[in-house]
Amino acid sequence: MTSHTLHRIQPLLPVVGADVEVPVVIGPPVRYANLDIAASAPALSAVSERVGQALPWYASVHRGAGFHSQVSTAAYESARESVRSFVGGRDCDVVVFTRNTTDSLNLLATALPPNGRVLVLDVEHHANLLPWRGGAATIQRAASTVAQTLDQLDRELSRASYALLAVTGTSNVTGECLPLARLAELAHRHGARLAVDGAQLVPHRRIEMAALAIDYLAFSGHKLYAPFGAGVLIGRRDWLDAAPPHLAGGGAVREVSVHGTEWAASPQRHEAGTPNIIGVTALAAACEVLGALDRNELADHEAALYRRLVEGLSAIDGVRIARLWADSEEPVGIVTFTVDGFQPALVATVLSAEHGIGVRDGRFCAHPLLARFGLVDGAVRASVGVNSSCDDVERLISAVAELVATGPRWTYRAEGGRYLVVKDPRRLPEFLGGGQLAGSVPSPCQA
Ligand code: PMP
Repeated sequence: MTSHTLHRIQPLLPVVGADVEVPVVIGPPVRYANLDIAASAPALSAVSERVGQALPWYASVHRGAGFHSQVSTAAYESARESVRSFVGGRDCDVVVFTRNTTDSLNLLATALPPNGRVLVLDVEHHANLLPWRGGAATIQRAASTVAQTLDQLDRELSRASYALLAVTGTSNVTGECLPLARLAELAHRHGARLAVDGAQLVPHRRIEMAALAIDYLAFSGHKLYAPFGAGVLIGRRDWLDAAPPHLAGGGAVREVSVHGTEWAASPQRHEAGTPNIIGVTALAAACEVLGALDRNELADHEAALYRRLVEGLSAIDGVRIARLWADSEEPVGIVTFTVDGFQPALVATVLSAEHGIGVRDGRFCAHPLLARFGLVDGAVRASVGVNSSCDDVERLISAVAELVATGPRWTYRAEGGRYLVVKDPRRLPEFLGGGQLAGSVPSPCQA
């Protein structure tokens, strides 16, 4: 890519807070370069506007005859169609609103048929490992190529009987994607279903659940530019209707007597209590806005930023980028790396304190995968999204290059696996009282 083409990469969609400046330890405040989109994405401006439109009409859903209640019910129920259409779900798929991907996969874990076993790979986020534990899961070690990994899954699915193959659509560590249509075919051939952890896939790539034959898909609003606390489990009705309700309580029942309870069908069965109407409204808005983008626009925007990130970081001495599979297609906009001679926690702290750049460091809730990579101290993850620009990426590359060339410009203190900024001059914003940041070390005279 020429610097000329890269220069044109501007945000695809506006987000709230895109121009917010943050303090740095040396010099004036700088625009925050948010390269931590994979952890939680900022709200799309369109999402925030929709929430602003919905709030005056807000009332509890389903049971109210009042006009506001009916408006809120319409917003809540129509959101199911926005979600279904965005991910290409089947008409018969149930859309259950949850809190997030973790909640969705935990719900699915309780909906497995009796004695149903689950096959997962060791590359998963904990959200797609831990809910299946308790004897129901086999954790298969992924091979060094996608092709071999599929062969291994094939062998394991023929060796034993599984109800479900549960895979991540996109690794939250490497950004690599698995071939979902092939996995669905594999699972179905062996009588299993396919569940996809879409937390990192759905924000980065358009998917067609029905065409790919995915049986269940889970994702989170906060990773889809709708950070208002709603998530989704969408998929086949039979298991969900046979499952115990996710939460027991009002809204999930048809009839209650002192002798027993008749539970409702899904999705209400799993949505007891007053639902997160605003979160769901926000999530639906995000689905509609992202769904209206040209099919390739999102992927092309990210691919350009991803390539520049990899090219720029790889050119720096001592930077190593983590990749799982030799034959995977180009990852989504997620790059996990280490810098020889610098702890990942220090790199992330320096990027924030000296450059106003937000990245993630640690083991990304994927401990088995990081252990495989031998990254016991974790790594640094930079991730881009619809709001990212070439400026964000160039700033990261220059900051890492400067760190490698000249070391940190400020003093940091290692404590409990983190790095604290000694005599941190940065202050919280006024709305939080302007106090010290949690990760700051007071100077001796302040202590
Ligand atoms: N799966 C993947 C691949 C993720 O990246 C994450 C979030 N880091 C999750 C699941 C869990 O998402 P949530 O915290 O929204 O439940």
